Amino acid sequence: IPNDHAKMIEAHELIAKFYHHLLLNTDEGTAALEYLLNRGFTRESISKFQIGYSLPEWDFSVKFLEKRGYSLELMKRAGLIGARDNDDSYFDRFRNRIMFPLQNSKGKIVGFSARAIEPDDQPKYLNTSETEVFNKSSLLYNFHAARSHIRKQSFAVLFEGFADVISADAAGIKNGLAVMGTSFTQKHAQELRRLIDAVTLCFDSDQAGAEAAYKAGNLLVDQGFTITVAILPNGLDPDDYIRKYGTEKFRTDVIGNGYTWMAYKLYYFRQGKNLQNEGEKLQYIEEVITEISKLTNPVERDLYIRQLAEEFSLSLDALTEQLKQLNKTHQ
Ligand code: ATP
Ligand code: MN
Ligand code: MN
Ligand code: MN
Repeated sequence: IPNDHAKMIEAHELIAKFYHHLLLNTDEGTAALEYLLNRGFTRESISKFQIGYSLPEWDFSVKFLEKRGYSLELMKRAGLIGARDNDDSYFDRFRNRIMFPLQNSKGKIVGFSARAIEPDDQPKYLNTSETEVFNKSSLLYNFHAARSHIRKQSFAVLFEGFADVISADAAGIKNGLAVMGTSFTQKHAQELRRLIDAVTLCFDSDQAGAEAAYKAGNLLVDQGFTITVAILPNGLDPDDYIRKYGTEKFRTDVIGNGYTWMAYKLYYFRQGKNLQNEGEKLQYIEEVITEISKLTNPVERDLYIRQLAEEFSLSLDALTEQLKQLNKTHQ
């Protein structure tokens, strides 16, 4: 089995080089390359992240791998090709897509995320499914290259999409990571905990992004991390933002200007609520008091209680009383 795994990885490394060559040096790759350059990826990024292009043929990769002596059964197990039900033939998993190699923590390519070029080509991203060498719940995009920067800066920036990692890297944010088409897991957190105990979350500015950030943040806090949340203006993701406002503004106004975890939670609970509405206001206050009750630092507690009292013209006595009751039910 270890030998099988080495072969799977070797095949990925080899075909990734070929996809990269197709993108940069062939007529077939021109449209894909133009797409990437038009959306703002630099040539440097394309080479650093070994971005490539897969041909539209149904059996290009099959033939490529077979010619080089790889067992097609093994290549199927590696997720590079699929097998047809009706006969013994194999077909390419990735066709006419932009190929983003996925590296494990040692920097070895173990899978791909393949992006459609045409907007109506679905799904937008086609990822290698879980295999013996590609563990989705622990792989973090860019971990290998980012590791030394994460150590040096004592924190990592977690993005929602790997396209954001690439743009941020070009903008000088070298400690960026992303999960690959899963939610953030304990395993991801453990992988990070060996290096650092601080993470900045920078997720897409939409409902899905806010919820994912809330979940990932809670999980990280439970693992002992200190969280900062970088907020983007409405509807943008980090890659969009960098293209629109530039790298300097991204570094200072977004990454350098994040919310504390508590401040983010308050912001998160507020979203979609009309605080002029009595019921929604009470719900918000209750959510905030519940969060305050979890704080262990008495100064912090005091700060947020006073803030809440002031904002909603509540008496400190009433808030303190409710807090006491909540703490009782917690214990
Ligand atoms: P782009 O800018 O190219 O549209 P994005 O990074 O903004 O890409 P999102 O739609 O924000 O993409 O999705 C974030 C992440 O979620 C992607 O990087 C990918 O890992 C995952 N993802 C999105 N759509 C799919 C899909 N159809 N299948 C699998 N994973 C997906
Ligand atoms: Mn998104
Ligand atoms: Mn996005
Ligand atoms: Mn995007």
